[in-house]
Amino acid sequence: MKLVITIDTEEDDWGKYSVAGHSAENIKEIPALQRVFDEFNVKPTYLVAHTVCEDEGAAGILKGIMDKGNCEIGAHCHPWNTPPFEDETNAFNSMLCNLTERLQFQKMQSLDETIKKRFGVKPTSFRCGRWGFNFGVAKNLVKLGYMVDTSIASYTDWSEYHGPDFSKTSPAAYRFDAGDITTHAAKGALVEVPATVGFLQRRFSLANSIIKALSKPPLSALRLKGLLWRANLVNKVWLSPEYNDAATMIRLVRRMKENNFACINMTFHSPCLTPGLTPFVRTAEDKKAFISNIREFLRFTKAQGIESIRLSEITRFV
Ligand SMILES: [Zn+2]
Repeated sequence: MKLVITIDTEEDDWGKYSVAGHSAENIKEIPALQRVFDEFNVKPTYLVAHTVCEDEGAAGILKGIMDKGNCEIGAHCHPWNTPPFEDETNAFNSMLCNLTERLQFQKMQSLDETIKKRFGVKPTSFRCGRWGFNFGVAKNLVKLGYMVDTSIASYTDWSEYHGPDFSKTSPAAYRFDAGDITTHAAKGALVEVPATVGFLQRRFSLANSIIKALSKPPLSALRLKGLLWRANLVNKVWLSPEYNDAATMIRLVRRMKENNFACINMTFHSPCLTPGLTPFVRTAEDKKAFISNIREFLRFTKAQGIESIRLSEITRFV
């Protein structure tokens, strides 16, 4: 089993869909996080937003880590603040999948060019902002020379946020053709590495179908999730320190090992490193717990012999 860690490396103004006025102060916290990764010989993938490339200091911090060979720099496209700007900025247009294929391409290309200029490397790994992935984005990834996408969060439906529904997609990495993004194709040009969302129950697809079947009125989805969780019937878990402590993430990975998954993908957002920027880390105490959960999780993966790879390295295994 391989471990990838994919970090949305982005501006401080989390969840604000404006064209300008962004800062990227949170990037200054990355060297301390990277020291934790270095301690465990973990090579994270920083998926960098346009706003971070525009900030010379922020980009310099990440380039320093990349130049030492300790991470991968990938691309993370926030359509609302990646040029060119044609459409109105609003929640609907914050999803790349809702833009025309032409405008998607222009924004993805300008991000690609900016990363090449700032970092001196061609990125080959990609994630859409807000998980707004579709076949148009996939086609554009092929045109722009990308090899790996990580824009799908397994078993997750974003349709109430104007986004795509990937509620049937398992956390397994797979090759695919741009024309059919959820179907495995042995010789596909791209590899999808979903952000890992799974279950503490052994049979993921059964647990998922229980949630799907029961997620209808009169029980609200949130109330239902609470009931199933407390009864230990269905425990849906993101492999992310934003939502879970180390013990829960470890339980998930043990299940995934039993189920022979080849790869796990831990995700989070760089603004979590500054308390108060995201709902996940509000205080200095939260931040301490956030980092200590990452450290404890990495202690587990190391003990289990789960090797850390950069995201684009997955193409050797899938
Ligand atoms: Zn983002």
